[in-house]
Amino acid sequence: MLDSLTQRLSKVVKTITGQARITESNTQEMLREVRIALLEADVAIPVVRDLIKRIKEKALGEEVVGSLTPGQALVGIVHKELTEVIGGSDTPQQRELNLATQPPAVLLLAGLQGAGKTTTAGKLGRWLVKEKKKKVLAVSTDVYRPAAIEQLKTVSAQADIDFFPSQPNEKPLDIAERALDYAKRHFYDVLIVDTAGRLAIDEQMMNEVSELEKNLHPIETLFVVDAMVGQDAINTAKAFGEKLPLTGIILTKVDGDSRGGAALSVRFVTGKPIKFIGVGEKLTGFQRFEPEAMAGRILGMGDIVSLVEDVKNAVDVQKAQKFAEKIKKGDAFDLEDFKEQIAQVKNLGSFSSLIEKLPAQFAQAAGSIDDAQANKMVSRTEGIINSMTPKERRKPEIIKASRKRRIAAGAGVSVQEVNKLLKQFEQSRDMMKMMKKGGMAKMMRAFKS
Ligand code: GDP
Repeated sequence: MLDSLTQRLSKVVKTITGQARITESNTQEMLREVRIALLEADVAIPVVRDLIKRIKEKALGEEVVGSLTPGQALVGIVHKELTEVIGGSDTPQQRELNLATQPPAVLLLAGLQGAGKTTTAGKLGRWLVKEKKKKVLAVSTDVYRPAAIEQLKTVSAQADIDFFPSQPNEKPLDIAERALDYAKRHFYDVLIVDTAGRLAIDEQMMNEVSELEKNLHPIETLFVVDAMVGQDAINTAKAFGEKLPLTGIILTKVDGDSRGGAALSVRFVTGKPIKFIGVGEKLTGFQRFEPEAMAGRILGMGDIVSLVEDVKNAVDVQKAQKFAEKIKKGDAFDLEDFKEQIAQVKNLGSFSSLIEKLPAQFAQAAGSIDDAQANKMVSRTEGIINSMTPKERRKPEIIKASRKRRIAAGAGVSVQEVNKLLKQFEQSRDMMKMMKKGGMAKMMRAFKS
C-alpha cells in the first residue's frame, strides 16, 4: 500500500535518523526530500505546502535542536504533522458513523463510477450487521447501468443485508423514496442508498445526487473515493464537497499499488473526516480509518499500534502470564507449551495481514506469506503433537525412531516432518533458555546475527 511514497519517505527517515545533529541546512535538505516524495505521490500542492510549513516551524524550533536524539525527534514531527493532515484533529466521535436519528438512518454514497460505491455499500452493510447488529436495507438508484442494480443485489446477498429491487425505467428519486417508505414500514435501522456515478464530474449526475440528498435527508452523505487516483481526486473531492453537504469520506483501494496522494489530500480539501478505508475486493476488507496508524504506515514505521492490539486480543493473558512464570522459574519448556504457542499464533488470524502491519523493512524481509499454506502448516504441527503421548510431550528426548514412526502414522505425515517439528521445538527451547539467562536484549542479538 502507498508503496512508492512509503519507500521514498523511509529513505529520508533513515538518512535523518542517522544524523548526529540537526542544523538549519540539513533540515532544509530533509524538507526538500520530503517535498519531492509528497509531490511524486500526487499529493495536492496546497497540502504539500501546508505540511512542509508546519514541519519546518516545529523542526527549527527547540523541539528538535535541543533534543538528545534530533533525528528521531524530526521523524516524530513528520509523523505528527502527517497524522494531523489526514485527520488527526478529528475526534473518534467525528470519525464514527452517525446513526443517531429516527430510524431508518439513511446513508447516501456518492462518487465517480468505479470508485467502489457498490462494493462499499456491501462492505458497510456487512459491517453494520456484524459490528452494530443493525437491520440493513440497500437500494441502487443507478438506472443508467442495469448491471449496477444487479451488482448491488449480489453484493447485498453476500453481505447478509436486504436488497430493495428497482427498475432501470424508474426515476432515481422515486426509487429512493419507495425504498425509504418500505424501510420505515419494515422497521429497518439503516437504508444504504447507492447512487450512479460517471467517469468524470458531470452536471446531471451532480444535480441528481443533490436532489436525492435534499429529499432523503441522509444522516450521512459519504464521498467514496479511490485512493489510487492522484491529483484528480482533489478536483472530484472539491466538486462533490461544493455540491453536497458531505459528512465523511470512505477511501477505497487502499490495498492497491497506489501512490497515496489522494489519501493525504481529500481530508484537507473537503475538511471532512475519513471514516473508513476499503482494503481489497472482498467484503471483509473494510476498516475504520485510524490517522495515526495510517501516517505510520506511510512513513514505513509499520502499524505497530494495531499489531500490538491484535496480539493483545488474541493472546490469552492468563496463559501468557503462567507461561512467563514458568520460564522465569526455570521450568522446562516442553512440547505442550510449544503447542500452546502455536495455538495462540493461530488465534491471530491471517498471517499476511499481520506481516502488513510490520515496518516496511521487516515486511519486505518476510516476503509474501500465503495464508492458506501457513494455516495448513500450523494444523499439521498441531496434528503431530496431538499424536504424541503426554509423556512424550513432556520429555521429547525419549522420542526415538520407533516412536517417531508411530507418531508420523498417527498424524498422517512422514517421519521427516516429525523430525522437522522436533528440530523447531529445540530451537524454540534454546530461545527460551536464552530469554531466561540474558533477557530480551540477548535474544534480539541472536535474531540479528
Ligand atoms: P462503483 O462504480 O463506484 O459502484 O464501483 P464498484 O463497487 O463497482 O467497484 C469498482 C471496482 O473496484 C470493482 O472491480 C471492485 O471489485 C473494485 N474495488 C472496490 N473497492 C475496492 C478495494 O477496496 N480494493 C480493491 N482492490 N478493489 C476494490
